[in-house]
Amino acid sequence: MNSALLSKRRQLLLLLTLVLTVGFLTISLVSYQTSRTAIHDSIVTSQLPLTSDNIYSEIQKDLIRPILISALMASDTFVRDWVLRGEKDIEEMRRYLNEIMVRHGAFTSFFVSETTRNYYHPTSILKQVKEDEARDEWFFRVRQLAEPYEINMDPDLANHDALTIFINYRVVDYNNRFIGVTGVGLTADAVQHRINHYQERYKRRIYFVGTDGKVALSTNANDRGRALASMEGMQEITAQITGNQQISLQYERGGHAILLNARFIPELKWYLIVEQDEDHALADIRRSLYLNILIVLLIAGTSIWLTGLTITRYQRRLEEMAITDKLTGLANRQAFAPLIELTLSQLKRTPEPLSLILIDIDHFKGVNDEHGHLAGDLVLQKLSAGIASGLRESDQIFRWGGEEFLVILRDCEAKDALRIAEKLREIVATTSIHIGSKSLSATISLGVAERLGNEAIDPLIGRADRALYAAKRNGRNCVALAD
Ligand code: GH3
Ligand code: MG
Ligand code: MG
Repeated sequence: MNSALLSKRRQLLLLLTLVLTVGFLTISLVSYQTSRTAIHDSIVTSQLPLTSDNIYSEIQKDLIRPILISALMASDTFVRDWVLRGEKDIEEMRRYLNEIMVRHGAFTSFFVSETTRNYYHPTSILKQVKEDEARDEWFFRVRQLAEPYEINMDPDLANHDALTIFINYRVVDYNNRFIGVTGVGLTADAVQHRINHYQERYKRRIYFVGTDGKVALSTNANDRGRALASMEGMQEITAQITGNQQISLQYERGGHAILLNARFIPELKWYLIVEQDEDHALADIRRSLYLNILIVLLIAGTSIWLTGLTITRYQRRLEEMAITDKLTGLANRQAFAPLIELTLSQLKRTPEPLSLILIDIDHFKGVNDEHGHLAGDLVLQKLSAGIASGLRESDQIFRWGGEEFLVILRDCEAKDALRIAEKLREIVATTSIHIGSKSLSATISLGVAERLGNEAIDPLIGRADRALYAAKRNGRNCVALAD
């Protein structure tokens, strides 16, 4: 194959590779991008807000009963009368609080009196609330409260400081005068369980942030109390979270895109935050993108390999056709020049004798004239096959012209060439060719020449040609050796 053809072929294959891979890759990437956008939008506009709504409504459900119980306590005539009577029988109040706690399955229950500042608890008087004590701040806040109650999250002193959600209900007397605060506490465990459950189920990070911008409750206990702004990637968005009732945001953490939905929960005065790692959500379609790319490369590779193979085969066939004679299937004259060139260059390195035999069918014109051109073709085919069968593997035969053949005999001196020529003559002379009912026979004349030293090919052929004519002159059907 020549180099121009080779580079043409390479260009074609390159172009095909480019078209196939760019085409397929574009399709894969566009469909990936489309799915990606759809998934992103669905997370931001429906999945995260929905999770948030669900958690919120379950928390509300959790809080309704304790609020109702606390409201009942605040309006209970026993409580009010007991206070108005001067808080005499502490055991009565203790039993009452214990009864509420046990019957309603509350974590704790309490009453704090405005007059005595006693903190009554199902077990005893726990303490006295003091205005200058940070832990008691809540009481003085509820005292000033315009609404009937608040929900507050505090560590419970009576329960080893377990994080507790308190319903702090104002108690007023029959003249609407503030006389204390009562209510129940429920452990934050319930809420914690909820967010653990949601986090487990949806593979989303769920946590609460207080109005102070600090994490109030999280599935990761270590995060509690941490400032939101101190968490990776959240410095800039903290103000947006705490400044909005509900907001969807995006930030980056550990090189991942995190989609976030925050909403304020007025009952808890907390922001509920639901996060989804977008990269995790996209893992499936990314995997199918990679698979697509792999398939694209495989298909492109296989097509290019097959195309390359086909082109190579096709070219080889074309080349073979160009150097093969159609009628006899022997090599033609075009094939001779490159082959003899190669042979002579090999002989330059390792010299060995070389002989040529030039063969011409005798009176072949007469065969055509007598039996027709088609019969002539058949004779040519049969005789060429017969001649070729008399040669060695290493010998090469060419159809040199119409009814002429040339044989190259490697490693062959004149006397051996003469012997081979004689054998070929005999093969032809004893071959009979059947055409229809007729039987034909033909003869050949042969000219043999051995290469003299570094003799060029043209003079060598010239001498073989002259030997052939000598054989013709000698009466045909014979062999002549060149001088
Ligand atoms: P000579 O013994 O002197 O060689 O006689 P000749 O008739 O063979 O010599 P000549 O060269 O005058 O004739 C060769 C003939 O071979 C002429 C041509 O029509 C015929 N011939 C050449 N090629 C083909 C071929 O492919 N098919 C057929 N049927 N005939 C061919
Ligand atoms: Mg001839
Ligand atoms: Mg002839």
